[in-house]
Amino acid sequence: MSQPQRRIGIDLGGTKIEGVVLDAENRPLFRQRLATESAQGYDHIIERIALIADACRRAAPECATIGIGTPGAISSRDGTLKNSNTTCLNGRPLYEDLIERLGIPLVLENDANCFALAEAVAGAGRGAALVFGIILGTGVGGGIVYRGELWRGPQHLAGEWGHHAIDPAGPSCYCGQRGCVETLIAGPAVEREYRHLTGVALATAEIVAAYRRGDAAATEVFLRFIDRFGRAVANLVDILDPEAIVLGGGLSNIDELYKLGHAAVARYVFNDELRTPIRRNQLGDSAGVIGAALLV
Ligand SMILES: [Zn+2]
Repeated sequence: MSQPQRRIGIDLGGTKIEGVVLDAENRPLFRQRLATESAQGYDHIIERIALIADACRRAAPECATIGIGTPGAISSRDGTLKNSNTTCLNGRPLYEDLIERLGIPLVLENDANCFALAEAVAGAGRGAALVFGIILGTGVGGGIVYRGELWRGPQHLAGEWGHHAIDPAGPSCYCGQRGCVETLIAGPAVEREYRHLTGVALATAEIVAAYRRGDAAATEVFLRFIDRFGRAVANLVDILDPEAIVLGGGLSNIDELYKLGHAAVARYVFNDELRTPIRRNQLGDSAGVIGAALLV
């Protein structure tokens, strides 16, 4: 009898690289982590990935392909990376170099798509035919999963809602536009608004705590954040009408997003009600590496 199908996934993060072997029910059988040591440069990162890949392949030698998740956008033209926060990867042919070094076929995907795939198949979006996975943290990303499959689009652009401009007079974004969703609702945006208003630098979690205590400035900034979240997510719902939205990233821990945030989306959606559930992720930090394995 043939062995049940196992899968290998690797999540390349800015601080750590994690590898996992999943069993046929998508449960982790084997895990390994290494520090990325990105300060030592591109070639060093390739070697760190190879160490993890070798360990996973020893644990699952029958696997003929590896899925790899990475921050940044992957060019559909030549497989190079851009906009990665691990900046030494940008512009480099990561896909080709990894295939050459590892000697095995790969599927390379950005981390927001890996998150969406993991939560849709094995997490909070299970059972929903169309899932939009949202990463809301230091940046804003997203991914679309339809019937268990990632929808990338011919330009590998699907789900990149972080660069919808929702305020042409808003802050300038590295992408060249102004008022992108990312410049208005990512963690640094909330912190910047609070700093402008008060002259005090607080982390997003501290601003949320101050809002809960009734602090006036924090309330102003936080409710504006919730309102913008509503506007941005309502745009998504109008286009995709997903059966579930799953939130990940650091800001997904903010409880108010699931009540006040949902009500704000309902305010802006092109409908007289909002039945779309907005769910907290279930896989936490593991979503990236599980999603990478599910690429295979
Ligand atoms: Zn932008």
